[in-house]
Amino acid sequence: MQEAIYELGEIILNETSGFTPYIKPLKIINKNGKTLNVMKINFDTINKKISFDTIEEMNQKTAEKYLFFGRYGGPNKLQFYSSSANMSNHLHQTFTGLLEQLEESYLKDTVKKVLEDFYFDTQLKDNRYRYILKIEKLDPNLGKTEDIIKDIKENKDKIKEIEKKVKEFLKNNYNLSLNDFGLYTVYIDGKSVHEYDEYRELVKKVLKINTSEQKKSQKESSNPLQECTFCGIKGQLNYSLKEFSIKYYTTNLKIFASNFQDYEKTLILCPECEKKIIVGQKYLANNLNTYLAQMQLFILPNFLFEKPTDLEDLENFSDNIKESFSLVKSYKNIENARTTLKEIENYYSEKRFFFNMDIIFYKPSNQATKIIKIIKDIDPNIFLLIQNSLEKANNQNSILSNNGYRVSLESLLYLIPVKKVNNTPTNYKYIVNLYEKIFKLVKIDLKELIKNYIKLLGAIQRNRKEYFGSQENASLQSTLIQQIKFYLFLRNLNLIRKEDFMNVKDLNLKNEFKEYLSTMNYDEQKTALFLLGYLMGEIGKQESTRTEDRRKPILNKLSYKGADLSKIRKLSLTIFNKLRQEKILRYNESIYSEFRRLFDKNEENWNLNDYENEFYILSGYAYSNMYKKDEPELENEEGGIENV
Ligand SMILES: [Zn+2]
Repeated sequence: MQEAIYELGEIILNETSGFTPYIKPLKIINKNGKTLNVMKINFDTINKKISFDTIEEMNQKTAEKYLFFGRYGGPNKLQFYSSSANMSNHLHQTFTGLLEQLEESYLKDTVKKVLEDFYFDTQLKDNRYRYILKIEKLDPNLGKTEDIIKDIKENKDKIKEIEKKVKEFLKNNYNLSLNDFGLYTVYIDGKSVHEYDEYRELVKKVLKINTSEQKKSQKESSNPLQECTFCGIKGQLNYSLKEFSIKYYTTNLKIFASNFQDYEKTLILCPECEKKIIVGQKYLANNLNTYLAQMQLFILPNFLFEKPTDLEDLENFSDNIKESFSLVKSYKNIENARTTLKEIENYYSEKRFFFNMDIIFYKPSNQATKIIKIIKDIDPNIFLLIQNSLEKANNQNSILSNNGYRVSLESLLYLIPVKKVNNTPTNYKYIVNLYEKIFKLVKIDLKELIKNYIKLLGAIQRNRKEYFGSQENASLQSTLIQQIKFYLFLRNLNLIRKEDFMNVKDLNLKNEFKEYLSTMNYDEQKTALFLLGYLMGEIGKQESTRTEDRRKPILNKLSYKGADLSKIRKLSLTIFNKLRQEKILRYNESIYSEFRRLFDKNEENWNLNDYENEFYILSGYAYSNMYKKDEPELENEEGGIENV
């Protein structure tokens, strides 16, 4: 993985010099679709006044134009970048940071003057809070910073109070709020700080050398000569990955042990190679990041022969690979995805790009990135395979394709119990493992999947909302249909072990039933349960015409914790009696007797487990609600008219 990141860095650094690879993208549109503006804060050292320029709208180039690099260092590090994504850095850190970082120069003298004139010296030891902007220099009516912060104990609260004053000023003078801005940048006497050569030199120093200089000198005595892992150069080298943004630890113990623990210790880098890795990581984070099932991930390509030669080439490649991913992720795109995926495949072969990919699921935490799972060496052809299998699953049978519920890779989040906390999955292990099997084409454990299916259906039925799939808008029927389609998708991908099936010709049922059962490839036991579930669905339809909220009490006959054979025997008697009570037995007698025949025949050698029993019953229930037929439909419609 490290090599692949190094290669990305190499491609970028071959082509560009200067700041481009380090620039961090900015949000340029807010939640409501409004384009954000740049706030330029000018310190006029002659008239001793601060002024705001709020006119400029942001665009794709803004981050580069104003040299936006994100934060400098870890969470407690004193900030000094002249462009920041928030206002507050400029209220108490930027100039203090600049004074600390800059070499003796004209700019440094000017910065000193700005601090004296425009910042109140709190005398605090913590240099992040030593100087706080004198709000009176913006507008005397806002009060004096010295008075405002006098009685506030917490440093952070002092800054909040000053920020409130800025908001007040913006509201009164421009009718704007801080939410209207995406970038804040400082000027001195009309010249932006990022245009000063001294500033640019400083940033170059900080970004390129980072802290390896210091480390070198610390290690000098104990480690006389090291060899760079990548280029073989010998010298006093840095072998710590501490400054990197991606931390190489993971909750997956196997990966941790086999790939990273030792690797991290033995990885030794010369400054040039370290730079490539840092640039590669930034590129990965900015250009090859996406998400699946509310989890963030990187797609890291490993080139085998040819690789992109310049930045433009690399960007085209990155766009294509991300496009492939997003096409199979979302059901909206799935039907039209094939043409685009073929085009992308042609693009790869024209360019002679042979590669495989690592998909790296991660969690952002503080300033670092915590890796939760790496799926290694994925063949890019998988996208087309997934697309084919999904499209087929969505249309496998006329009854399945006639309903609107489509599935895609993303659907899985809503089909198994994944706990939702702050909109992110907390128990992600099972879902991430399933994704790994899909991307790597490894057989799945169907019994385990079905157990998870049932668990989620139980939560929906009991109104327990802790899962992504059991929120307000979830319904048993739509979830079931999608679960069935996802099961078909996995079968189309050949991830389910061969199962028994039966010859549907022998069934004494209507053709539509036979067609559907042959699509599902059910054996006699599954078919028996399916028929029982179908009858449950028919009873439910009758019940729902009488209950006010269209409830179906028959569904409470299942426990959603699995049902053994004795429970199914009992259930079958209940269902027979209900069919009679609801006066629909005459329409369903042949179906009931097919159930009876298959069940009695197989009872001795039953091999489905309790969860499977309930699932195949529910699959019949779902079918009953998808299937439109003539006779009882008429009765239903009469009932329906009364309700209208
Ligand atoms: Zn090297």
